Amino acid sequence: MNSLLDEGHLLPLAEDFYTIQGEGYHTGKAAYFIRLGGCDVGCAWCDSKFTWNPKLFPPVPVTEIIARAVKCAARAVVITGGEPLLYPLEILCKELKNKGMEIFLETSGSQPLSGEMDWICLSPKQNHPPLPEFYPLASELKVIITGPLDMEWAEFNRRKVGPQCHLYLQPEWSRREAVLPHIISYIKANPSWKISLQTHKYINIP
Ligand code: SF4
Repeated sequence: MNSLLDEGHLLPLAEDFYTIQGEGYHTGKAAYFIRLGGCDVGCAWCDSKFTWNPKLFPPVPVTEIIARAVKCAARAVVITGGEPLLYPLEILCKELKNKGMEIFLETSGSQPLSGEMDWICLSPKQNHPPLPEFYPLASELKVIITGPLDMEWAEFNRRKVGPQCHLYLQPEWSRREAVLPHIISYIKANPSWKISLQTHKYINIP
């Protein structure tokens, strides 16, 4: 890693775009998405596999990314990946805050936290579980459900988050028809959970 990347002045940008958040607590809100390249978690069903190899995404100055983000009407940014916490995010977050942007982070929690976030969406993965530090910080716990057995993983994580944390079960997109009935009946029996649907995929927006 070169020193500018190491310090967070440059980041391997996979894509950035203005859209409407489709899932989780902030569903329906317009936000500028900053998707960083690189992830070593390796979820078989990942819908962003193109981001896994960071070498495909040449480092971009943070100032360039922010200049584009602040042009949108919304004052909210979603930092996602890949796993965005593979990189130091202090500079990105500080500059976004200086521009008056709210920052929502999407993370597996598998890497140490960096940068000041307004909202942390923790989406834990069994093959690379979150670091313990994330559980009390999570604003939202979003567990991807591929089958009924994943409910145990959801409950394992729910026991670790704080009382303020919003709890979501989200069907894995390719198995949504099979798992939706299980999620619906589970939430009816365990109403502290809510359902999260990938609404952006239903309405064909990024
Ligand atoms: S953590 Fe996210 S980006 Fe990484 S493999 Fe899993 S779903 Fe894909």
